Amino acid sequence: MAKVSRRNFIASVTSGVLGLSLAKEVKADSKDNQTSPELSPISIQKYNPLGKTGLKVSDISYGAISFFEPNVLRYAYDLGVNYFDTAEGYLRTKSESFIGKALKDVRDKIYITTKHFYPSDQQIKGDGFNRGEVIKRVEASLKRLQTDYVDIAMLHNLGDLSLLKNEELQAAYSQLKKEGKIRYTGFSTHNAKVTLKQALDHDFAQVILFIYNHMEGKDIEPLIQQVRQKGIGTVAMKVFAGGRQGNLKSFISQEVSYPQAALRWVLSNSHIDCCIPTMSSYSHVEEYVAASKKPLNRADLELIAEYQRQASQHYCRVSCQECLSSCPHGVAINDVLRYGMYFEDYRLEKDAMGYYAGLERDKKPLDCSHCTGYCEKACPYGLKVKDRLLHAHEILNV
Ligand code: SF4
Ligand code: SF4
Repeated sequence: MAKVSRRNFIASVTSGVLGLSLAKEVKADSKDNQTSPELSPISIQKYNPLGKTGLKVSDISYGAISFFEPNVLRYAYDLGVNYFDTAEGYLRTKSESFIGKALKDVRDKIYITTKHFYPSDQQIKGDGFNRGEVIKRVEASLKRLQTDYVDIAMLHNLGDLSLLKNEELQAAYSQLKKEGKIRYTGFSTHNAKVTLKQALDHDFAQVILFIYNHMEGKDIEPLIQQVRQKGIGTVAMKVFAGGRQGNLKSFISQEVSYPQAALRWVLSNSHIDCCIPTMSSYSHVEEYVAASKKPLNRADLELIAEYQRQASQHYCRVSCQECLSSCPHGVAINDVLRYGMYFEDYRLEKDAMGYYAGLERDKKPLDCSHCTGYCEKACPYGLKVKDRLLHAHEILNV
């Protein structure tokens, strides 16, 4: 297959964040049909130190939450991407397996992060949930990744650091480190306002993964700087601010790629070590890698301003949480809206439904239709929260 053409490139700019239709188009021309793209002249131009770990990671790295074939991972590696972020839960463990399959022969040239989710301190102390259980889950990840070690093992989606008080958990991660199965530890979070602050007084986190984009995260910039100055590696996720460019009216630019502008915006913060856009097609790999080391320019900022104008009342800033205390029923508003975003904008229908199924019943928006909508009044961005929640429930509920 020829290199991704100008036509396809523009198509990828105007597609959704995961560019499902384009991914299918490229896949049809790919290894399945015994052909693969010629290697693009585009490549990673910048590798940054990841905190004080000693690792040097590509500024544009790989979020492996969704992709359709391991060859896309390999293509990213071929273009210079060397940091791959996965999780036990991504694609119901298949993400780890795909990374193992695609990259085992270059294991010593790449860095892998994987993540494990533990619901709460109470539950981890519950029946049979001890250090052995934690070790078993990490070892199962190693097996799927076809490696003896992961560079960074993260606790997945921490709302605060209370989980780290658990002695069994601490002991498990210490043992895994001593055995060489883990090099560094850290966590991912959707609540960086709280967790980054707490991380300043804690030694567990050597790398942190958090939401940072042009619509969400300005308020945590001083904290990002502080954790980075402490030597903690900083990795940005959800860098496309919902990736709604494919869904917004008249949001088409022939000149500037919105994903590239959004990536450049994130990396213009010198305290961010790398970001992990999801690359689910060859086109995504080329488009995102092309943003490596490129400075943010005026045209990027104009496009970003237009995106913000159109998306402002649609995009739930997951980490803001301003509405949560207003709900008399304790609905997990930002989580439900985030799962809705995974379903509709990321096209991760099955995963989104799975996450929603795992949410406790009393956190679902089951009473919203009889409520006057206190959450809506509390939302500083004017989102139609109640309607959005009811809609999310409709699409996510099995
Ligand atoms: S509509 Fe009412 S019940 Fe539903 S989330 Fe908002 S405040 Fe809570
Ligand atoms: S609905 Fe509004 S207030 Fe609630 S988390 Fe989202 S952006 Fe923040």
